[in-house]
Amino acid sequence: MPLLEGRTGIIFGVANKRSIAWAIAQSLAREGMRLAFTYQGERLKEGVESLSSTIPGSLLLACDVTNDAEIDAVFGEVGKQFGRLDALVHSVAFAPREDLENEFVKTSRDGFKLAHDISSYSLVALSRAAMPLMLQNGGGSVLALTYYGAEKVVEGYNLMGVAKASLEASVRYLAANLGPQNIRVNAISAGPVNTLAARGIKGFTEMLKHHAERAPLRRSVELEEIGNAGLFLISSMSSGITGEVMFVDCGYNIIGL
Ligand code: NAP
Repeated sequence: MPLLEGRTGIIFGVANKRSIAWAIAQSLAREGMRLAFTYQGERLKEGVESLSSTIPGSLLLACDVTNDAEIDAVFGEVGKQFGRLDALVHSVAFAPREDLENEFVKTSRDGFKLAHDISSYSLVALSRAAMPLMLQNGGGSVLALTYYGAEKVVEGYNLMGVAKASLEASVRYLAANLGPQNIRVNAISAGPVNTLAARGIKGFTEMLKHHAERAPLRRSVELEEIGNAGLFLISSMSSGITGEVMFVDCGYNIIGL
């Protein structure tokens, strides 16, 4: 029997077929999970719709994660349609381009607030909204996406590194808070992948090349590998793991010099 037969999940952050969220969705769907997808604004609707329509029984809903009313509406609809929720995938991040490109010391107050709201606080807001549905079936699993720039300084990552540090701390605090109710919260720290969001990072192509040359596996991570790691952290195969940030980066993070 497929690992996730009869289970349901919601995925935030599919922009197109190269999105990490889409790779995770495909791994979850392969194991029988029924999925709801959200998109931000009409611009992306058509693309996400054509992807989600390839997964039978899936739902498509609009949600800007900075908008509490939209978050409530999304989980209300998921409750109505699915009647339960086992998984939440948070694969959303944003920082204004000028705040990524400027010297870090010049980061704007508004940019700082927006980057933290979309890339970090949203994990707290979405987990809170998912909780009642997860508790109906005795718990659930939450997964977020982060990057090495949360721990170490990566040129060009700037404000997003600080927002990811906040996201990783939120993973730990949420895991401690929700663990007694059997809701697990983990993150994947993915190696660089060429996606829409990644193109906002100055020097991303060089970053990708450097990573492939230095990583112990001497290559970049494949989207499918991140998808399968997501499946592991969502499924009961990882039932004893919570509050963890797991690197899926071909080993890059273990290298000192
Ligand atoms: P992506 O395909 O561009 O996905 C990012 C998603 O975030 C997009 O769907 C984007 O929608 C969404 N988003 C931004 N602001 C939003 C808002 N206010 N409300 C709802 N959704 C919003 O890029 P990705 O690389 O797969 O990124 C997914 C996650 O992986 C992010 O957390 C990223 O930081 C993380 N990550 C990426 C890499 C990498 O190298 N690519 C490495 C490690 C971690 P819009 O296009 O409409 O803004």
